[in-house]
Amino acid sequence: MGTLNRDDCLQLDQNDPLATLRNEFSIPSGLIYLDGNSLGAQPRTAATRAQEVVAQEWGEGLIRSWNTAGWFDLPLRLGDKLAPLIGAGAGEVVISDSTSINLFKALAAAVHSQATRQATSPRRIIVTEASNFPTDVYIAQGLSTWLDRGYQLRLVNTPDELAAAIDDDVAVVMLTHVNYRTGHMLDMAGLTELAHANQALVVWDLAHSAGAVPVDLTAANADYAVGCTYKYLNGGPGAPAFIWVAPRHLPAFRHPLSGWWSHAQPFAMLPEYQRHSGIRAALCGTQPMVSMALVECGLDIFAQTDMAALRRKSLALTDLFISLVETMCVGHGLQLVTPRCHEQRGSQVSFSHPHGYAVMRALIEQGVIGDYRDPGIMRFGFTPLYLRYVDVWDAVLALKRILDESAYDAQVQPEAVT
Ligand SMILES: *Cc1c(COP(=O)(O)O)cnc(C)c1O
Repeated sequence: MGTLNRDDCLQLDQNDPLATLRNEFSIPSGLIYLDGNSLGAQPRTAATRAQEVVAQEWGEGLIRSWNTAGWFDLPLRLGDKLAPLIGAGAGEVVISDSTSINLFKALAAAVHSQATRQATSPRRIIVTEASNFPTDVYIAQGLSTWLDRGYQLRLVNTPDELAAAIDDDVAVVMLTHVNYRTGHMLDMAGLTELAHANQALVVWDLAHSAGAVPVDLTAANADYAVGCTYKYLNGGPGAPAFIWVAPRHLPAFRHPLSGWWSHAQPFAMLPEYQRHSGIRAALCGTQPMVSMALVECGLDIFAQTDMAALRRKSLALTDLFISLVETMCVGHGLQLVTPRCHEQRGSQVSFSHPHGYAVMRALIEQGVIGDYRDPGIMRFGFTPLYLRYVDVWDAVLALKRILDESAYDAQVQPEAVT
């Protein structure tokens, strides 16, 4: 692959069965967007849909729209649309709240379920990776401290250490399927099986998996899952997240944010809480309808393809990127952080560089948008829905020129959001 030239990349685009999906997005011309792992690009229908929701559903329908525009059922209806992308069934997923909040609910439910099962000598260990996305670790710490019953985090330093850390002291294993910084993908089925063999439950965070890689929660026999819609699902900035509960856990599913939207009869306005028997139990309160409506624009695009086709192109794009960087940018101190083997790779590639932040800023100024995470890691996200092979070529050429000419300001101060 290292011998490919720009024309070869154009040819790959010609033969790409997914090429037309790019037309479903509004991407500023001249921009190469390699940050769909952080904030997905805008679906072409989003602006019209936002206008419709604001002007008609809100402006004219007013309160009636909770019924007439289907607002009240939207978290479930969109959950059903998302379900096939993560190997879930109808009525098993809802769109709501943020990933952090849903993680709190799922983790609390898992801890509660374990405490009920092991009433005499409950386990108190929650296993996760030290390199997990910070909010996941913070939420687990927050919940443990709040419970004040001796719950403790067991943080492992590398994925290889997970197997040894999952023993019979463990109540819950809380893992992010694809690591946000390295792009390393864990073996969901294998680790779930290992956890179950030790009578532990697993909460999977799919923030960098949903819409990025094939996921089959049902086949993996997973217990709970959460994830974002604003990354690879292109739902819009701050769009509500999702939560999935395995049907076998639903009858006993309990989380502490028992707001009225999780009630069996929310409009009976009863003083006693009575949990809804379905996945509505995972809701809390009123949802942001303008933002939620836009999640559908992103999800609808996935109906035109399937995750197997997207995975093939994703791996082709990331393979191409790795091989071009390694042949065109040799001798500049770049180090591949993302696993080379396909089974362990998500849909992003990270390279570290001593001046990673400065180099990324220079790239962004040239219209190649990725992002940066300490220490020294440049992240490049590859969204097969809208990226072309020629974009990969042009991005690597821009990177090569910046490095060849040292055309970056090593002293540049980080912005608030990197
Ligand atoms: C992006 C991401 C989040 C974001 O959580 P928010 O509540 O939306 O801020 C959480 N966890 C992981 C693993 C992520 O990658």
